[in-house]
Amino acid sequence: INPNKVEFMISAVSDAQYPDTPLKEIALSGRSNVGKSSFINSVSGRKNIARISSKPGKTVTLNFYNMDEKFLFVDVPGYGYAKQSKKEREKWGKMIEAYLTDRKELSCVVQLIDIRHKPSEDDILMYDYLKHFEIPVIVVCTKSDKISKNKMPQHLKVIREDLELEETDQLIPFSSVDKKNLPQVMSAMSEFI
Ligand code: GDP
Repeated sequence: INPNKVEFMISAVSDAQYPDTPLKEIALSGRSNVGKSSFINSVSGRKNIARISSKPGKTVTLNFYNMDEKFLFVDVPGYGYAKQSKKEREKWGKMIEAYLTDRKELSCVVQLIDIRHKPSEDDILMYDYLKHFEIPVIVVCTKSDKISKNKMPQHLKVIREDLELEETDQLIPFSSVDKKNLPQVMSAMSEFI
């Protein structure tokens, strides 16, 4: 990925606005604060390409990034906001569901989970939902620099077990601070572009 060729495309509020390109799309999901913007910046090789958009209370949008004409990243707004009204949550659900189930260009979802914590109920729901629709998932466990190396296997085991991860789904510890395992993440994603 050439950092200079990474471009923010659009914050779409409806499918009419989704960009029309021949490229495959990799969607990113996870609860707010999991490290999604930092992940997009890490893969881009840019400091600030990812918009600070997935904040509670803001309009629900799908943010599309052109990753050097190789694929598109689609930032799905963080789930599980306590602050959202019921109406906003419903709107969120409908838009995400429509995107995940109807979008032909979607080839896989990177689900981000904080390596320090057990998957939340929302994490598990999202994973089950993706499996139900047979969407391939790469689980990226963020903030791996925050736990010691010898604790890593146990944390990964808990996440794998709680999600009931399928054999074919990859689980990769990742840190946006030291970019550890960025090559593994790139190689896992390259299978879907
Ligand atoms: P988002 O809400 O999911 O987009 O999360 P952000 O990327 O904005 O990150 C939320 C917070 O976690 C910020 O303070 C980041 O600096 C921090 N953060 C994100 N990724 C990492 C990481 O890999 N390691 C550490 N130590 N902090 C991280």
